[in-house]
Amino acid sequence: MPAELIAWFESAARSLPWREERTPYRVFVSEVMLQQTRAEVVALYYHRFLARFPTLKALAEASVEEVIKVWEGLGYYGRARRLHAAARLLLDQYGGELPISFEELVELPGVSHYTASAILAFGMQRPAVAVDGNVMRLFSRLFAIEESIDEKAVIDRARRELKQLMPKEKGSTWAEALIELGATICTPKPRCQLCPLRARCRAFELGMQQNLPVRRVKEPPRLLWRQVAVVQAEGAVLLYKEEGKGVMQGLYQFLYFETEEGKNCREELKRRIEALTHVPVELLQLLPTQKHSFTRFRATLYPTLCSLPRQIEVASPYLWVDEEMLSTLPFSAGHRRILKAGWV
Ligand code: SF4
Repeated sequence: MPAELIAWFESAARSLPWREERTPYRVFVSEVMLQQTRAEVVALYYHRFLARFPTLKALAEASVEEVIKVWEGLGYYGRARRLHAAARLLLDQYGGELPISFEELVELPGVSHYTASAILAFGMQRPAVAVDGNVMRLFSRLFAIEESIDEKAVIDRARRELKQLMPKEKGSTWAEALIELGATICTPKPRCQLCPLRARCRAFELGMQQNLPVRRVKEPPRLLWRQVAVVQAEGAVLLYKEEGKGVMQGLYQFLYFETEEGKNCREELKRRIEALTHVPVELLQLLPTQKHSFTRFRATLYPTLCSLPRQIEVASPYLWVDEEMLSTLPFSAGHRRILKAGWV
């Protein structure tokens, strides 16, 4: 399996930005970006992030708000916060270098078993196998595994058995080839005719490649409907900065409240804003409805442009922001789309 897989990778691997000029830091950044985002999307953001934070030191010395702003558009902002926290810790405790021990890497904020292995294999050319969802799908088919690939015991088995199969030479190329094959050929609808491992694949031999991998049944997404108020007064807009530990931590949003499916309750919106501001509010116009997905939620946003006669005093987490400053702040994806709807 090693020789044909490496030969295939060397001739067919995609040209991706993070495969150029590899350093442990650059691999770290790309792997955190790739955790919940497709490679084609990460490719759009990777260079921009490195242009602003070319070194681990530059990242550690930036404010978390600036890091989130540069991350804007990639979503799952917890990743940016943890990457920044890891950079600070590495600068404080490791002289600004990534450690070469798996045990130390995996202790860093935001570094999973997979990410630590990827940093070792692709950033440091160490003998590590990085097992992600693509590799698990490939593994389950190569060996016709009929247990769920979500089970820890099956994941551990994949890590163990693939490590044993790793060649002594070009081990990190081989490890990356597993990921590439899973991402491009052994996809959910496998393209077996193009596969360099077809002759060794047990699922192909048994004709069961379409039935694997077995997955645990996923919870359905949770639907949310939100009434959003874009409140203007004297050239500024009233915002809410998310605090606490949630996925929106550190992001700015317009005021909103939960509503019911398809229900655009403008009177309720007016009542709520007046309860907060204690001045009469004028509802100016409906803005285009926006859809927004985050973690397992699917939100529909009904925004309304509103006006107050003056900027009333507000306390944190509420704040007034001048309209020309809005584009400099990190917004959640759905609220950023509202911002771009042309009303400002
Ligand atoms: S032969 Fe098909 S199922 Fe088997 S590893 Fe290749 S692409 Fe996947």
